[in-house]
Amino acid sequence: MAAKLISGRPIADAIKAEVQASINHLSARCGLRPCLALVRVGEDPASAVYVQSKVKTSEELGIVSEHIHLPSDTSQEDLLNRVHELNRRDDVDGILVQLPLPGHIDASRVLEEIDPAKDVDGFHPVNVGRLSLGEEAFAPCTPGGIIELLKRADIPIAGQHAVVVGRSNIVGKPMAMLLLRENATVTICHSRTADLPSVTRQGDILIAAIGRPAFISGSYIKEGSTVIDVGINNFNKAERAVEIFPPEQLEKRLKAIESRGFTLVGDVNQKDAMEKAGAFTPVPGGVGLLTVAMLMKNTIKAAMLRREIR
Ligand code: NDP
Repeated sequence: MAAKLISGRPIADAIKAEVQASINHLSARCGLRPCLALVRVGEDPASAVYVQSKVKTSEELGIVSEHIHLPSDTSQEDLLNRVHELNRRDDVDGILVQLPLPGHIDASRVLEEIDPAKDVDGFHPVNVGRLSLGEEAFAPCTPGGIIELLKRADIPIAGQHAVVVGRSNIVGKPMAMLLLRENATVTICHSRTADLPSVTRQGDILIAAIGRPAFISGSYIKEGSTVIDVGINNFNKAERAVEIFPPEQLEKRLKAIESRGFTLVGDVNQKDAMEKAGAFTPVPGGVGLLTVAMLMKNTIKAAMLRREIR
């Protein structure tokens, strides 16, 4: 039987609607409009698109957004000064420094200077530590969104064996911590894991965050499991399309490769996942849509916690 597709769109829309309702409530109750500051350094085209989408969603929901775009040659000291200034400003609730930063800037150093109470990306060591301790924390938006997606799609987590492939600080590690908090039994895999398919085939929930197009094929997937595809990769190998995409998508995908030069694929072979999994998140249209929605949710959480509003 074909896997059930879990679309990210209705889940992201539901989260955004809840955020908007909270903002309307806060505004009526105490005249508060949360403010998110987004700092971007340099001209990375993907970062420009991501920040623009965050600004647009903020505005749609009634969050004030401040986009600070600094030149590529901004010194680390100047950037740190901007972060300190945003930390001091009482009207700013959330601070996000868009990654990647130019090579001459130490990203860890910058992230460590963000006030943990305004760290809506959840990358500050204090929030990472609190998450590991099972305490209240800002969780990184992509893994936080995956937990929302699993819950809202009625996928059981407690007692299930969740296998996470990838151990990055942005996705893999916080994902594992969040699954543990939800009482899953968690295995983390990475590039040095021996016999990866035999491990991933144990996953009732398999989360792929690797950054390799369609790497997770049928032999990695447990029959009937839930497969969450976090990967976002450009794919241009028209000759391999028939192996990767279900027949109903093939024509559209090939057209995209021909006209744009690429089509977006995740880390999972969609055709195999559709045949073998019980439920599966598509790329595009799955996890990716939740990241910005969760950023909005973290921003309103920051605004309320800072002002001790329950
Ligand atoms: P990183 O490159 O930081 O980490 C990749 C991880 O995958 C590493 O831990 C690496 O292992 C592991 N890995 C790489 N190759 C293999 C392999 N052959 N077998 C097993 N493990 C492997 O990537 P990110 O975590 O930042 O991102 C992962 C993917 O998710 C990317 O496609 C990215 O675009 C996407 N992404 C999507 C988001 C969204 O909003 N949907 C947000 C963030 C990321 P090791 O540590 O040993 O090197």
